[in-house]
Formats: sequence, structure tokens, C-alpha cells
Amino acid sequence: MGEAYISKARAVEILLSGGVVGVPTETVYGLAAIADDEQAVSTIFQLKGRPSDNPLIVHVSSIHQAEGIAWVDNQAAHLMERFWPGPLTLILPYKSDVCSLARSGLNTVAVRLPDHIDIRDIISSVGKPLVAPSANKSGRPSPTEAQHVVDDFARAVAVVDGGPCRIGLESTVARVTGNNIAILRSGAVRAEDFVRLGFEVQVQPGEYHRSPGTRYRHYAPEANVKLYFSMEDLLIEAQKSGSRVILSVSNPGLDIPWRQLNATTIYSELRRADALGVKEILVHCDTAVRSNPALMDRLMKASELGTNDIGT
Ligand code: AMP
Ligand code: MG
Repeated sequence: MGEAYISKARAVEILLSGGVVGVPTETVYGLAAIADDEQAVSTIFQLKGRPSDNPLIVHVSSIHQAEGIAWVDNQAAHLMERFWPGPLTLILPYKSDVCSLARSGLNTVAVRLPDHIDIRDIISSVGKPLVAPSANKSGRPSPTEAQHVVDDFARAVAVVDGGPCRIGLESTVARVTGNNIAILRSGAVRAEDFVRLGFEVQVQPGEYHRSPGTRYRHYAPEANVKLYFSMEDLLIEAQKSGSRVILSVSNPGLDIPWRQLNATTIYSELRRADALGVKEILVHCDTAVRSNPALMDRLMKASELGTNDIGT
């Protein structure tokens, strides 16, 4: 394939002919295929090097379309009306039109209506839901710019450039059972947002088998990522010899490359540090960072504190 960047119309053509394309969403860039096309879905698993027991999120362009693939009860409908389009994925009982491979054979399906006009336009033109896992090679930080997709897949996948992702972290994944919500992956929609609507919420870091992807190490750059709660401890490490980058909310004032730390740019900064070829990334997790569960979750997974299996 010769083209790196393509129009939405070209992306629709490629998808309809059984291909895979890179598409922007407000969370991260996705690698898209038609959800009921088992052959195309299997290409995604191969391209990413993703284990087949890690199911994909199905993206829709309307609540009506979600009702075609999943059984939507009143509570789930309430969540869709409140949070869609947006960074919330709902795990619901499976109804039809999503191939078994995309669901890893489960009788549930993960559904989301993304808040980015480009992917919604593409889904509408295709007329069918699309799977779209993050468009990165397994174990690499998720892509938040079109260039990141090109970096990971060279010219094997063409991408629609929709600009930098507004949110920059993957969606919240929530399983809804009546009035109970289990948060299987943290994201921009938080536990307190559900509680405010009267839901009972459990955050279940231990319940890995329910959301297979969370047991794999994600988001990891080549460099060693070390997390510090105190700037004093970070500065002691920073004085040692070796090539380092510091990620912090405020400038530590050292003669070492420093990058602003926030949820929107964390993945691009991890990729940038890798491009510099540094050995270590020292991260200052101040109270503002620690009060953001989604950002802390991704930092833990990028660091040695994450599990060692390579995934997604
Ligand atoms: P990604 O596509 O890389 O953003 O990851 C999708 C996340 O949703 C992974 O953590 C999956 O394990 C999770 N997921 C997808 N489908 C299901 C499902 N049917 N049940 C539970 N978790 C799911
Ligand atoms: Mg991913």
C-alpha cells in the first residue's frame, strides 16, 4: 500500500472491501474494521500482535445502531443518553452482527459511540458498526496523533488524520447490570459521574478475568518508567548519570529534558522520550496527577509497577 494519509471517503472504500484503516477518535486513534467481517477483524489482531482472548470495542454512530448489536435495558439507555457521544464503553449482553473473534467468543459485547466527527461519519457511510482497538503495536503507548499510527505500522495501514486526540486516554470500560456498574478500566468518565446518577459503583482492579485486556501490560515505552510521589526523591535519582527525561506538572528546573505531564499528552510524551533514545523516564506524580485515576492507571502500567505480560 502506497498511501499513508487518506480521506474519509477512501477509508470507507477500504473498509467496505474488507480492509483495515486508522481512524481518529476523541480518546486515541483506532485500527478499524467492519465488526461482522471476521477476516478483517483477524487482520487487526495480526497487525497489532494482540492476543485473541482480548476482545475489541465496537464503535457505533447512533444509539439505534447500538441496539442492533446489544441488548440495551433502561439503565444502559440512560447511560448512553447521558454520556454518548463520549469516552464510555458499555459491556452489554450480545445480540447480533459482531463476529465471534471480535468478542473473543464471549456472549457480551463492548459498545461505544465516539465523540469525533470523522469516525462517526465513516461509520455512517459504511452503514455498519466498526471495531477499533487502539492503533498501536502491542505493548507500545497508544497513538494520539495520526503520525503515531504511521510510526507503528509504516505503510501497512493508511490513516485518516483527524488531528491530535482531545482526551488522549482510552475510554472508561463499564459493565452495567441493572443499577450496578463495575468499572473494568478507568477513563475520563469517573465513578463519581455514575454515583451522581444514582448507580451503585464498584471499581474492580482485581476482576481481571472480566475485562481480559487489563491483565496485559499496556502503554509501555522502550525506556524504563519510574514513578515518584515526592519531587525530592525524583531529584536524587535525576542527579545520577544516564540519559533521562523528566515528566512533571511543573518545571523541576534541572538541566535534563523536561516535559509537561498531563492526561492528554502522556502517550505522545512517552513516544517522544523513546524517540530521543533515553534510558529512563522519571515521572513526578503530584497530588493533581494522583487524583486522576485514569492517568495513574496508565502510568502504573507504563512503569515497572504494571504486570509483565505484553498485551494489546
Ligand atoms: P482496547 O480496544 O485496546 O481499547 O481495549 C478494549 C478493552 O475492553 C479491553 O480491556 C478489553 O478487555 C475490554 N473488553 C472488550 N470487550 C469486552 C467484553 N465483552 N467484556 C469485558 N471486557 C471487554
Ligand atoms: Mg489498546
